Formats: sequence, structure tokens, C-alpha cells
Amino acid sequence: MKLTPLVLGLATASLLGCVDEKLGTTQGETFEEYLAQVQREPGTGRYVLDWDIVVSTEAQVYEVWKQSQSGQALSIYSVGGQDIKWSPAMQKALTYCVSNNFGARKAQVVAAFEAATKQGWELYGDVKFIYDATQDANCNANNNAVVFDVSPITGAQYLARAFFPDSPRIERNVMIDSSAFDPAQTGNITFTNIMIHELGHALGFRHEHIARPNQQTPGCVEDNAYRTLEGYDALSTMHYPQCGSPNNTLALSLKDQTGIALVYGAARVPVAPVASVTSPADGATVPLSFDVVANIVDDDITTVELYIDDVLDQTLTTGPYTFQVDTTPGLHNLEVVATDSGGLTGSQPFSVNARDGNGGGGGNGDGDGDGNGNGNGTGDGTGGESADITGGCSTSSGGTGLGMLLLGLVSLVTRRRRS
Ligand SMILES: [Zn+2]
Repeated sequence: MKLTPLVLGLATASLLGCVDEKLGTTQGETFEEYLAQVQREPGTGRYVLDWDIVVSTEAQVYEVWKQSQSGQALSIYSVGGQDIKWSPAMQKALTYCVSNNFGARKAQVVAAFEAATKQGWELYGDVKFIYDATQDANCNANNNAVVFDVSPITGAQYLARAFFPDSPRIERNVMIDSSAFDPAQTGNITFTNIMIHELGHALGFRHEHIARPNQQTPGCVEDNAYRTLEGYDALSTMHYPQCGSPNNTLALSLKDQTGIALVYGAARVPVAPVASVTSPADGATVPLSFDVVANIVDDDITTVELYIDDVLDQTLTTGPYTFQVDTTPGLHNLEVVATDSGGLTGSQPFSVNARDGNGGGGGNGDGDGDGNGNGNGTGDGTGGESADITGGCSTSSGGTGLGMLLLGLVSLVTRRRRS
């Protein structure tokens, strides 16, 4: 494989110090910016494109640049007309652990995965990777509590390798070779961007250089089990630099960002639930047994809780959100709290005056004035997400049609997996 010697030829870059800026796009750059990155052949000054193609004039370089600015992103793994991708249920429950065997390097791996997911793919596609640190001590291919494991390896031929959504659990690992931690080996490609590339495979994306028209560079030709989403993108993070990409940082391209949305839908801005109580009215007089009817607006509610006098009384996980309450005579402060899969909350406090018999007095409107409650939650609620989603994900992680696909694809997978 040509990756190592070619990548070695690139200038070195620091690793984590520039994670955020490296996640920016190289797509949409001006021709001048593009031209400045093109290598010049020593001695002749000719432009070296595609690592081993030489052109002499700026006009020729311009044609290549122009081509790279059109077309759309990414190539999805596709067999027999069927895309190999995660199901809607799984795409937002991609749990993983990071092996303690990384030792002193573990923190760097954890940080890079956060950057490659939360600040990477998840910004553009409706997918969610969930780090489950509770599995780190037992983070290997036999751990079925997570969808995949992130584990170290030494002496591999690759910097890192991943898997595809239809891979069996035993192969669902991101293996990171010790060489990936060595800037002298990775050149302009940040550690985070290596992980973005690998997670691209985990999301079903093939190497983009296989979709390059007339791709003939040795080591860059693979197979036809892919579907280009909207053409060829020379700047994709899934495109090896040495296979004809001017994007030698492996940063997500603009078209990677739109491409993932074509497969998984656009990333959704987290919106806190809105909770309101339709019955009883705030301050109403009620019998000792009464229903609390709540109206919850959100598309991924995980729990709706009813608190009575600050004590959790009941929890519902699906609508209709009607609580049957039995309480004691007197004034009670109640609150309905809705929590979504992102850990965001919305709540509605209210009070009732419970009376023995049939009530009937109507609302006395004493409203205790704590109407604000805790309002809508903010922040990303990471901890809550993990807890909410992890439990439901692992059983369906096998994917479908595995057996049928595996036999014919083992050799392809092996070949493709190299970094
Ligand atoms: Zn790859």
C-alpha cells in the first residue's frame, strides 16, 4: 500500500492543537488557494497532480480545480442497488468504547473521537456516536454492550482501519496503529481527521478515490460496490491524497457535509421539549383522585415525569401522557418534566388544591408563583444521552442481510479497510 511512503512525504503538522481549524472545509476555496497547495516538481517547476501526474500550465490546473468545485459528495457502500448503512434506529445509537490499552494515549483517542463525531460528522448528518466509558476496561470485539470498540494495534500496515455498517461485531472495531500517533508518519493529516475518515467508513462511505473518473493510480482502484451520491468529490475526507486529491489534510469537505445528509438526513439542531399541562388548570380544586393530562411537544421524548411536592411520583415513556394521581387533601405543587434523548428538558409546574369529596369549588387561583420552574434545559446533556440511548441499541446491532453479504465481501472488506 502506498499510503505510508506517500504520506511520509508530506509536511508534518501538530496533532491536537489544531483540531478545530482542521475540521474546516477545503471545499469552496479559491483557485489561488488551491494552486498554492499544488506540489511543484523540483527542478522543472511543473505542477504535480494526483501524486504522479504532471501538468505544465496553470490553465490545466484550473481545469482540475473547476472540476473539483462541481459535483457532489461521497460514495456510499452499495451492493445490488442497496445502500449499506445504519437503520434509522441505529444511526443515532452508535455506541463505542475506547480501550484502556491505549494507556497514556487514551486521552488523545477519546478527544479525537469527540472531535470527529460531535464536531465532525454529527454536525452535518443526523447520526450520533455515543462514548460509553463504562466499557473501556473490557473494550474488545467480544463486548456486545457497544456497537464497536476502539482498540490499539502495533505493527499494522495501516495508520488505522475501520468497518462498514454490515460488518459483524467481531470486525466492528476501529483499530489504531501506533504509527497514527507519530506526526512524522501522518504528515498534514491530523489524528482527528484520521478518525473522521475511519468513522466515514463506519457510516458506510467508501474511499472516494474509487469514484474518480478513470482512476488508474496503483493502490487506488478498488471495486464497484458503491454508489456515488451526486458525483465525484476530489476533496472528500474519504479520498486518499495520493489517489488524486488536493485535500491533503483529510478534513471534511463541504460536499462530505452535504453528502452525509443525503444518506442519513441533515443534522438536527437539538430542541428542548415543550411541556404543558392541559388538565387540571393551575390552582384548580380537584378530588383526591384525578388525572393530570400533559401535552408534550418533541420528536424524541424519552421520559415524562410527574413530581408531586418535589418527589417523583410517576414516569411515562410513551404518550398519551396522562397520569392518574391519588393524593392527600390540601395544596400540592406538581410539575411535569419531559426529557428527550439529548438530555434536554422542558417542564410545567402547577398547583392543585385537593379536597375530599367531589371538589367542585373551581379554581381558587392561589397560584403560588413558581411558574418558571426550571424552564427549558440548555447544554448538550451528554451524560443523559448516553444513559438514554445505550440500553436500546445493542440488540439490533447485527444489521440485516449479513450472512448473504459476508461471503462475497470478505476480500473486499479486507482490502478496503486499510486506513
Ligand atoms: Zn479508508
